[in-house]
Amino acid sequence: MPGVRRSRAGPILVVLTLALAGCGREPQLVDRQFLAFGTLVDVSVFTRSPERAHRAIDQVREALQRWHETWHPWRGEGLARINRRLAAGRPAELSPEIRDMLVSATRYHRLSGGRFDPALAGLVRLWGFNGDEDPPSRPPADAALRDWLAERGSVADLTLREDRVTPAGTGVQLDLGGFAKGYALDRAVAMFQAAGVENAIINAGGDLRVMGQRGGRAWRVGIRGPRGGGVFAAVEAADGEAVFTSGDYERFFEWRGRRYHHILDPETGRPARGLRSVTVITNAGGLADAAATALFVAGREWPAAARDLGLDQVMAVTDDGTVEVTPAMAGRIRFVDARPDRVEEVSWQ
Ligand code: AMP
Ligand code: MG
Repeated sequence: MPGVRRSRAGPILVVLTLALAGCGREPQLVDRQFLAFGTLVDVSVFTRSPERAHRAIDQVREALQRWHETWHPWRGEGLARINRRLAAGRPAELSPEIRDMLVSATRYHRLSGGRFDPALAGLVRLWGFNGDEDPPSRPPADAALRDWLAERGSVADLTLREDRVTPAGTGVQLDLGGFAKGYALDRAVAMFQAAGVENAIINAGGDLRVMGQRGGRAWRVGIRGPRGGGVFAAVEAADGEAVFTSGDYERFFEWRGRRYHHILDPETGRPARGLRSVTVITNAGGLADAAATALFVAGREWPAAARDLGLDQVMAVTDDGTVEVTPAMAGRIRFVDARPDRVEEVSWQ
């Protein structure tokens, strides 16, 4: 039947025309910026189809902004609703996304010997690092910290069965801030893949994931120095890699000459000591983000903790300014401008 033939030819012709239009074009860089996760997100796509790239970036922007709201520990009806139930000692239903995050986070908690703990919302709030607002001006009272330590729980106190989480008491609330950005970038990469975007870099305030290449060459990414001065090192990141940094410079206040920052050691209830920053490269954002936080908490013991997490590409800046690198990281990192005074390769077998 001619009518049927015409109705098939229509879509095929359209597809062919689009494909030809795409092939004829020179690849170009589409670069967009927007705010999400409390930071500037910079997305670059190297593509022959800028229209497709813009559409995919719109989707990613919308998702990142929505997740940031949904995963806020105290505000709104996502994670905050779960935390209200847990604070009342009652079970809570989890969305598939939050359930998935809790499963991964529980694994990172175990692999990091408890240093990464997504159940520190109460402690983070005690220190005043819980919101998008300005950091606080002084530490909590010793008595309040002692009370927290006496009653402290961890994510291991939660029981997860299907999509329901049950607390053991009332003291454990979830703060996924130590790896939410990494998890979100993994999801964003999956969205790009589904939309046919192959070569891209999604950089959320220096934490990033890379897809493909930029015109046949690896994407080159910068790593910020922990004490100002902009980018101090650079690496060429391969397809699928994630580069995440945790540092004491991201959120902090000074009180009586000392710096108090937002990465808390669950053992002491206080900001972790020993390092200024930790950078991790691996092939997943969730792991890279959780691991950077965990290794920061490990302080000078970070190499052993990195091995336990199955990582081999790490750089740490210690509190005396020494740059410590694993051999695998030493082989690829390039220092921009001046090489730091002390760069040491840690032993690794
Ligand atoms: P990041 O910048 O990825 O290291 O994450 C820091 C954020 O994670 C903090 O602002 C807290 O919300 C949360 N956090 C602080 N200490 C820890 C910890 N020991 N384990 C997991 N999350 C933490
Ligand atoms: Mg992190």
